Amino acid sequence: MKYTHLTSLLCLFVAIFFLACSDAPEIAEPTCPPEKKIETKLAEAPPKPEETLACGVVAAGNSAASLLKPWLSPQEIHALAKACRPVFRLTRMRVGKPYKVATLDEDFHRFEYAIDSNRYLEVVRGKEDFPAPIKAFTYDVKEVLVRGEVKGSLYAAMQEAGESSILAVRLGNLFGWEIDFVRDLRVGDTFSVLVEKRFTQGKFKGYGHILAAEFTNQGCTYDAFRMECSGKVGYYSRDGRNLKHAFLKSPVAFTRISSGYSLKRWHPILKKYRPHYGVDYAAPVGTPIHAIGNGTLRVVATNRGSGKHIFITHANGYQSGYLHMSRFARGMKRGKKVEQGQVIGYVGQTGLATGPHLCFRMKQWGKPINPVKVKVTREKSIPDSEKEAFARLVAKLRPLLHAGIAANTPEVKEIENKG
Ligand SMILES: [Zn+2]
Repeated sequence: MKYTHLTSLLCLFVAIFFLACSDAPEIAEPTCPPEKKIETKLAEAPPKPEETLACGVVAAGNSAASLLKPWLSPQEIHALAKACRPVFRLTRMRVGKPYKVATLDEDFHRFEYAIDSNRYLEVVRGKEDFPAPIKAFTYDVKEVLVRGEVKGSLYAAMQEAGESSILAVRLGNLFGWEIDFVRDLRVGDTFSVLVEKRFTQGKFKGYGHILAAEFTNQGCTYDAFRMECSGKVGYYSRDGRNLKHAFLKSPVAFTRISSGYSLKRWHPILKKYRPHYGVDYAAPVGTPIHAIGNGTLRVVATNRGSGKHIFITHANGYQSGYLHMSRFARGMKRGKKVEQGQVIGYVGQTGLATGPHLCFRMKQWGKPINPVKVKVTREKSIPDSEKEAFARLVAKLRPLLHAGIAANTPEVKEIENKG
């Protein structure tokens, strides 16, 4: 009797010891041999065809045909591509985008391709055809407060806060007209961003909307709140002014002007004085170039002097030009409409250029103007009819941006009370 007591106590200790070890080896279960379990399961239901997923990303030189060849005949691939055509042309598949091929007992069942972070194409083998709907990704969305302090660059501060540099770029674009992130950023500047983070099965899949943000630069605090006014989404400061302007401050993020607009400049390649009707932004090859405003592509071309270049016409007689690109973004062609912020190409050194940079030019009514001196108008403020709703939104979100700050540093709270 006593002996059994002792053994069970010992067993208990051993069990606790194993549980306490984080990487404890799996304890074999002495009861019920596992083979028997499977046998009974097999007897209960016939096996369903097993789905296997082959996942990958589109590589250079890949096509729908090369990806699907292991499972489909050329005729079937042709039929599949044809079925997709009304919703998405498979020739538009891009390098780096993820795809999946699902097979049932090694037979082709389904092909999925991520068109962007919101939508994917799903092609399923039907009885005689390939139904190909475009579906929306569903995410688990978490609203997260990201706070940081600048010690070097905004990129580094964002990384230190545990977030990606993409969020730094978005924050920079948001406050681009209030703060000059190249010249005015200082050690000790702080930011606070309330942003949606998207997850699928616990895996981070990117950022959703920035709901509200605050940036304190050299003691001045700027804020932004996301608000939908009659179907249009915008960002407004808490006094209701629109943060968006007709043009972006610069077509490349966080870069410096390496050479300004001048009527007489020594040209290092041509070896003579020439006017420089633009500003040069120093940036590494491959840096994305954004359209500064909504407009229409008037020129997408390559020549000896300007290399690969794009000209966009905007409202009110404005035109913007982007020179020496390494490559154009996909789908750029004359007559295409682009939106402010859309990537149109990448920094390079094509044409007469001594190093990688973007030469950015502007004209109004055909006459060159200094891009830095263009008077850029703000988009519309919060309309009177929406002011109350906006005030409620600010009252709800603003305390969230400050969550935790007041507790740690009372002096910030004092400044806030004054502001
Ligand atoms: Zn230039």
